[in-house]
Amino acid sequence: MLKGVTHDLGTGLAATLAGLIGAAFFLPGHIQQPGLPGPPRPGPSPQPRPAVTLSVYNKAPEYSWSLARALEAWNSSGASIHFYTVATANANVTVTISNPSTCGSDPNIAGCTELGHDGPRIIWIVQQFDKYDEAEVIVHELGHIIGLTHDFSGTCEAMTPDLGQNCSSPPPGEWRCRLLGPNDIKRAVGLVGGEARFPSGPEFCPKES
Ligand SMILES: [Zn+2]
Repeated sequence: MLKGVTHDLGTGLAATLAGLIGAAFFLPGHIQQPGLPGPPRPGPSPQPRPAVTLSVYNKAPEYSWSLARALEAWNSSGASIHFYTVATANANVTVTISNPSTCGSDPNIAGCTELGHDGPRIIWIVQQFDKYDEAEVIVHELGHIIGLTHDFSGTCEAMTPDLGQNCSSPPPGEWRCRLLGPNDIKRAVGLVGGEARFPSGPEFCPKES
């Protein structure tokens, strides 16, 4: 069983922001005048938002396979997000291996990044797992870059604080190739728009020989 714990540096900030956004969202309800005549007017139809497009530079070539699986998972999720790899630095997202202290003092932390994509982001890999587990770490950290905080709903999601939390273990010789859970996709669509496309493939796939 994997002991790695992913870490996100932005959780506290995200909670604060979510609170502020929630307050602003509910404010109009409080000031609306009751008893206005006539049927409720339909609100403006939602405008399609352009996809969030982020370039990714891989400075950890030993994890190219893991990164490709993680990018593929988000790119096919239906959320309006598109990650694409580039061969040059100065990308929106850089994936790199670093020493454990980069992500704090907890020795169980597997990787970390910052929340959101309003600036260049680095995904720090601080525990070097096999390529299958590392795909789970990277898809989690990409979720933070999309803007997702940790998921405490109790289901098997990429965004749980611990890797593989609430998930059944893959059978021997297989890995969890369905990297995103339903909440991951729903929440990402809620943040960036799009239409959720839940994976129809198997949860587990044979490991490559
Ligand atoms: Zn995290």
